[in-house]
Amino acid sequence: QLFGQQRANSLGIATDIESQWQPFRQQVEAFLGDYQWQADSLINGQAQSNVRQAVMAPYASQQQVGEVSWAKVEQVATALDAAEQAHPVWQQTPVNQRTQYLRALADKLEQHMPELVALCHREAGKTVHDSIDEIREAVDFLRYYSQQAESIFSQTLEQTGLQGQQQQVRYQGRGLFVCISPWNFPLAIFIGQIAAALVAGNCVLAKPAEQTSLIAARCIELLLETGIPGAVIQLLLGSGAELGPALCSDPRIAGVAFTGSTPTAQSINRLLAKRDSLPVPFIAETGGQNAMIVDSTALPEQVVRDVLRSAFASAGQRCSALRVLFVQQDIAERIISLLQGAMSELSVACPEYLSSDLGPVIDSRAQQKLLQHIEWLQQNAQLIYQLPLDEQCQQGSYVAPCAFEIDSLSQLTEEHFGPILHVIKFHANQIDSVINQINDSGFGLTLGVHSRNESTYRHIEQRARVGNCYINRDQVGAVVGVQPFGGRGLSGTGPKAGGPHYLYRFAQAEVTVIKA
Ligand code: GLU
Repeated sequence: QLFGQQRANSLGIATDIESQWQPFRQQVEAFLGDYQWQADSLINGQAQSNVRQAVMAPYASQQQVGEVSWAKVEQVATALDAAEQAHPVWQQTPVNQRTQYLRALADKLEQHMPELVALCHREAGKTVHDSIDEIREAVDFLRYYSQQAESIFSQTLEQTGLQGQQQQVRYQGRGLFVCISPWNFPLAIFIGQIAAALVAGNCVLAKPAEQTSLIAARCIELLLETGIPGAVIQLLLGSGAELGPALCSDPRIAGVAFTGSTPTAQSINRLLAKRDSLPVPFIAETGGQNAMIVDSTALPEQVVRDVLRSAFASAGQRCSALRVLFVQQDIAERIISLLQGAMSELSVACPEYLSSDLGPVIDSRAQQKLLQHIEWLQQNAQLIYQLPLDEQCQQGSYVAPCAFEIDSLSQLTEEHFGPILHVIKFHANQIDSVINQINDSGFGLTLGVHSRNESTYRHIEQRARVGNCYINRDQVGAVVGVQPFGGRGLSGTGPKAGGPHYLYRFAQAEVTVIKA
């Protein structure tokens, strides 16, 4: 399988995938079949059992994965009171002790890898490779932010200058931080935001996407096992429309970290602005209308490999994913015919199979929205390729990966969060108009460029207003601590996750001046 094989390579299990995979697969299997999870909100470390509802697998609508109970809106106030009470002590807790809990959680996630892989298949429909990547990224966030915090928060910076005085700068947490995370990275982004807020000395109110409540709750159970005080991390499961306003309107909130759609970020921003207090940090990582520009000097095979991974890995459910491929006329036919061949090799199947390149999309609502867009494309665009789906896919919320040629980026008025690629051809003298179209979309998350001509890719990279630009490679899968990730414009506020400036946004500086 095209990127199945590639990912397996990068995981170091490619030499003999089957034999090396089997022992791990057996451990995962203990959590498949009839295994069920249960999740409740956790206030002060105590499970709050309300009426439970069934959670079904996105790839088998008849298969129950577990049960979840959602928080009542009144419980938000209880969680806020408890977090407020706990904050002074947590703030005074030495940073090395705070990070110890998070580092211990990283070890626990590694120990519980088989269970978490199974849960990522079951609740989020993630493939084997995506599930393993998910857990590794969560571990990376925990260790990276711990390491960063140990240097930022453990020392006082001495500023030299005025004689006879000592000037000291130190950073500390802001207070109560709300962390609202998405279902597409139910463990990595969920715990990444929480870890950053906690190591900086904040108490957290976490509201994960309702679609992946089981994963979030399991992660917080493991965090509580490390001995962290339960009051510093309050988990509120439930509907964003209900719990979000109760959280973000509270005057005690000192900051919000959010990853999700642009319209939701806009409503959170309005809630925060309506409060009587002054503005607080709002860290938003949102959507994109991500493009890739391919000129005639590019290597077609490499382009197609990178397009495939950028557009279809994780069933296109990454905010970094490629949505619009701009390809120069002179090379377009070659790229399109290679793309058709490569797409026909993709395997869309049950995410538990090692060979599955794409699993389902998150739920039937997402599926219906994507199918509606495909219908629109069938009428208004030129079909390049659409993979036929196996009958088994009828049982879940699968969407066939497809590619359509369209005329202009302005035809796309919103982000389509799934395995749909749009292709636009351009002439050699139109590169600047392509860059303008991309900038005019207002989004600015990722951009891919394929060109062997340094002056071309430098020209593009300097003019395009995007957060992460990838040249001659794919444009997804930013590595924590190495490729800080985040967009601009409608795609996000910064600072970039997994980068050296992220933790400062969760903190404030205090200056002390002492006269001798
Ligand atoms: N960091 C991820 C990547 O580089 C995307 C995060 C997201 O989809 O929110 O692919």
